[in-house]
Amino acid sequence: MERIIQQTDFDALSCKLAAISVGYLPSSSLQRLPVDLTRKYVQWHRDYLLSLKKFSRRAFGKVDKAIRLSFPVMNYGTYLRTIGIDTAILDFLNANEQVQVVNMGCGSDLRMLPLLQMFPHLTYVDIDYNDSVQLKNKILRENENLRSTLELSGEDATELPVLIDHKRYKLIACDLNDITETTRLLDTCTNRDVPTVIISECLLCYMHETESQSLISTVMTKYTHGLWISYDPIGGSQPNDRFGTIMQSNLKESRNLEMPTLMIYNSKEKYASRWSIAPNVIVNDMWEVYNTQVPEYERLRLRSLQFLDELEELKVMQTHYILMKAQW
Ligand code: SAM
Repeated sequence: MERIIQQTDFDALSCKLAAISVGYLPSSSLQRLPVDLTRKYVQWHRDYLLSLKKFSRRAFGKVDKAIRLSFPVMNYGTYLRTIGIDTAILDFLNANEQVQVVNMGCGSDLRMLPLLQMFPHLTYVDIDYNDSVQLKNKILRENENLRSTLELSGEDATELPVLIDHKRYKLIACDLNDITETTRLLDTCTNRDVPTVIISECLLCYMHETESQSLISTVMTKYTHGLWISYDPIGGSQPNDRFGTIMQSNLKESRNLEMPTLMIYNSKEKYASRWSIAPNVIVNDMWEVYNTQVPEYERLRLRSLQFLDELEELKVMQTHYILMKAQW
């Protein structure tokens, strides 16, 4: 199961690369990127894909094929997920002088690259399974542009489980189901008194109920002041809503993949109840994010990229993905 879950990172990566190749991302206005970082954002992702080819032709083939097969509703989804999370991070970073970000189940996500450049006092920790971060480590070190952006050496000077141990960026191997090890590693590489952003982007949906709840409670009690940003699918709670059950059976049939809590936390409210110890919890589905956070000029820009005639399909999909922000 672990390996099957790790492979989901290649889905996330291909969606991101597809959205970049058509021009949905980056959104220089909503991701608040200056001109030079807008250009670099595209180049970093291209470089990542090129290096992936050197280390895993199979993964590259999958990702490359998926990029070519992407269609507008998926690109909208990736766009919304990315700007939704980035906006929440940026608001927190702008409101607090010194911040640490911990991206749990980071996969191939590269959002640390622009953020570390934009916020000189930021420190950033990426965590994922050993195999996933081993690959990410190789790619980041192999490509000259990625390597120099993170000021890394070409060779692995560090040892497991900390694969990159730069003073502002750490890449760590850890099974987040193992709460003792997760706690130990967070203790060594973060500071409990620094305002902390925790990101879980399509992570908790692959974890079991007890383990995910233990992760949430343990991490929240560790940091004095923080913001947890979580993005996941929800199964749907209306009596005639079959989104979740169809999604579960498709995943099981096509890849033997499970989402154990999809039907447990099947509504926005149930999903958000997992962070109830936080005094301030906001949860929106991504259709609400589209309608409230994407200004008209940005919608016009999106419409100019690809013709989207499946608006109803977009609405059905996006009401089944949520963005939760819990602040304490
Ligand atoms: N967050 C990234 C993104 O959105 O681009 C990757 C998302 S991918 C769908 C899910 C990631 O969570 C994978 O990289 C997987 O290895 C990681 N993951 C799932 N369960 C995990 C666990 N128990 N410990 C560490 N990583 C885990």
